[in-house]
Amino acid sequence: MLHERLEPVYENVVQRNRGEDEFHQAVREVLESIGPVIDKHPEYAEQKIIERICEPERQIVFRVPWEDDRGEVQINRGFRVEFNSALGPYKGGLRFHPSVYQGIVKFLGFEQIFKNALTGQPIGGGKGGSDFDPKGRSDREVMRFCQSFMTELHRHIGEYTDVPAGDIGVGGREIGYLFGQYKRITNRYESGVLTGKHLSFGGARVRTEATGYGCAFFVQEMLAARGQSFDGKQVVVSGSGNVAIYTMAKVHQLGGTVVACSDSSGYVVDEKGIDVELIKQIKEVERGRIATYAERRPGAKFVAQRSVWEVPCDVAMPSATQNELTDADAAALIANGCIAVGEGANMPTTPEAVRSFQEAGVAFGPGKAANAGGVATSALEMQQNASRDSWSFEFTEKRLEEIMKDVHARCYATAAEYGMPGNYVAGANIAGFTNVADAMLRLGLV
Ligand code: GLU
Repeated sequence: MLHERLEPVYENVVQRNRGEDEFHQAVREVLESIGPVIDKHPEYAEQKIIERICEPERQIVFRVPWEDDRGEVQINRGFRVEFNSALGPYKGGLRFHPSVYQGIVKFLGFEQIFKNALTGQPIGGGKGGSDFDPKGRSDREVMRFCQSFMTELHRHIGEYTDVPAGDIGVGGREIGYLFGQYKRITNRYESGVLTGKHLSFGGARVRTEATGYGCAFFVQEMLAARGQSFDGKQVVVSGSGNVAIYTMAKVHQLGGTVVACSDSSGYVVDEKGIDVELIKQIKEVERGRIATYAERRPGAKFVAQRSVWEVPCDVAMPSATQNELTDADAAALIANGCIAVGEGANMPTTPEAVRSFQEAGVAFGPGKAANAGGVATSALEMQQNASRDSWSFEFTEKRLEEIMKDVHARCYATAAEYGMPGNYVAGANIAGFTNVADAMLRLGLV
């Protein structure tokens, strides 16, 4: 339900951004939470803070021409949406996936504003990417694409302006090629312009693991708030990319057992607990399919083209992509006794499924809070770059754990303050929004 003052705001967003369904969904989710804030702070409505937050400060769309290994010319589209810089330089990843269009980049950029605010770090919100499909492309093709992409992007970014990082389809390899081209074009060794870099050129320890580790820490806090822990819990993780891999690794360290994970072809079940090193070998080194896991691991089973959420578990951690967990999946999870959900991906749970979890009393940690560990550790990478320093793994992981505990505490306390105890969606949206809104009020009409 939308507050009456927010209904026209939402209608306007839909009218002005036609066909951008995911963006509408992300805006609606935040607006549904902030009704009580508008009643308490009429100055936000008077100064049109909400309307301003929904309109990106700057949107860049560009052509990315490149040549494939056969010498054929390829054309992709590149995006960077610089959404909000009230708290710091625009910060957010780049996604390379065929599904990428303006609506996806805007939903991600919009969520990023509030996620970044929740980390307590001085970073604004932005996102970018391309409809380039890295699947099946050679290393040289990926390099040529990244170089062409950066040849345009370089004029829009900078350590004090906009600091991209990875997301789906963009990992250490791509960040390396992007940084190499940025350095060459600008003739500047500006480490702080990108995060997620390799350790050899200014990267931070724990950044690779951070989103997954952070999500596990967040769920641990949600469980602790209910007098529980990961100990002895069965966990299902969707996806098998960077977020899923390090979620599984940390869940195992914290005493849980991950019994299933997936990719777009299906899922694998392994009652003994997923062998994370084997998944890493197949997905990261060989860039293969998940069915291979069942061929190599005795006792494991591959199930093609079905939802991983049919596997019974205590804790579900969707870590693949947007709207992957539907209301039917939520019903199956609830019927199987699931008690907690932590979103490792961005907006993986549909609005209907979120409602079902909340009505069933399942602890639900939205991505804005639960997956904030990635970008928070990017902010730690920026700190190290600014001071030309390099921190140890142990120290950086400790900082990440503290930040995730703070994010949890902030969401928990805000939900209680607004009369919705245990509602992490409301807590995250309200706490993130008020941080940004207060800064915007103080910065004047800009
Ligand atoms: N793409 C990640 C996210 O969704 C990380 C962004 C970053 O490190 O800037 O938050």
